[in-house]
Amino acid sequence: MRPVKGRFAPSPTGRMHLGNVYAALMSWLWAKSQGGTWLLRIEDLDPQRSRMEYALQIEDDLRWLGLDWDEGGTEGRGPAGPYVQSRRGEIYADILGRLTAMGLTYPCTCTRADIMATQAPHQTDGRIIYSGHCRPASLGGQGTTSDSRPAATRLYVPDITIDFDDLICGHQSVNLARHCGDFVLRRADGAWAYQLAVVADDALMGVTQVIRGNDLLLSAAQQIHLFNLLGLQPPRYGHIPLLTDTQGRRLSKRDRSLEMGHLRTLYTPAALIGRLAHLIGLTDTPSPITPTALLPHFNPARLTPATTTPTLPITPFAP
Ligand code: GLU
Repeated sequence: MRPVKGRFAPSPTGRMHLGNVYAALMSWLWAKSQGGTWLLRIEDLDPQRSRMEYALQIEDDLRWLGLDWDEGGTEGRGPAGPYVQSRRGEIYADILGRLTAMGLTYPCTCTRADIMATQAPHQTDGRIIYSGHCRPASLGGQGTTSDSRPAATRLYVPDITIDFDDLICGHQSVNLARHCGDFVLRRADGAWAYQLAVVADDALMGVTQVIRGNDLLLSAAQQIHLFNLLGLQPPRYGHIPLLTDTQGRRLSKRDRSLEMGHLRTLYTPAALIGRLAHLIGLTDTPSPITPTALLPHFNPARLTPATTTPTLPITPFAP
């Protein structure tokens, strides 16, 4: 049995909001309640939107909350660093090379607009499913790559169904061809794609459990497929509901009132954790409590129905 290791992997594209705090708290509690360790990884792959100052702010907010990490962070504490994705290009190139050596990747010059033009949005819930336009003959396609544009690298995805037991959402069965089709491993501008980087990192950093938002439930199937191709052991996944406003809209970094900058002016750390713990059904009252003091209240087997739905509406979150 591998030692239990959870992780929090924020993208430093803005200040954390309550939904990010929820994900961080749940993954911290899940790991710590099993005597495990907790790792912090900075997912700054998007060069346009990521900023180191946001990463440092996230670290400051986590420390303020009492959610300390045992490994990782911008300082790179631990044996599997660096823990900032923009510094891990050579590792991703190596993983991509292994998939390419298996004959499973190909260049693709389709733009987002090209792909959107080939599908009816109502069939895909807004997700983009690649039609296989550039897939080469060696992988059963037509190989119609246009040479004049920069190419992304895609992974060939067969008609395969991935089954897994989500720690929160239960059994999932996802057909990859219908859900996403051949997916991108490296973007045309050279940026590494999330799916490749997250699998390389979770594998090489020894992560055994991933607790994160429900918007990534289907991505888990893509990630398990990559783990399987590389002969690596996937972590267990648990996907928590997305916090929404009372109109059912997902919280975003635009909702300033639920952003840490604002919340820190209203609450002490224990008061904020206490309100959140009560909201998500971990405690009977919203009394102030620290993450460490919450540990005895945390039993993954006894999550309330509220924590097993895809979304969780929150009433105005004020003291
Ligand atoms: N970096 C992603 C985000 O901030 C999370 C990825 C993951 O947990 O796998 O949304």
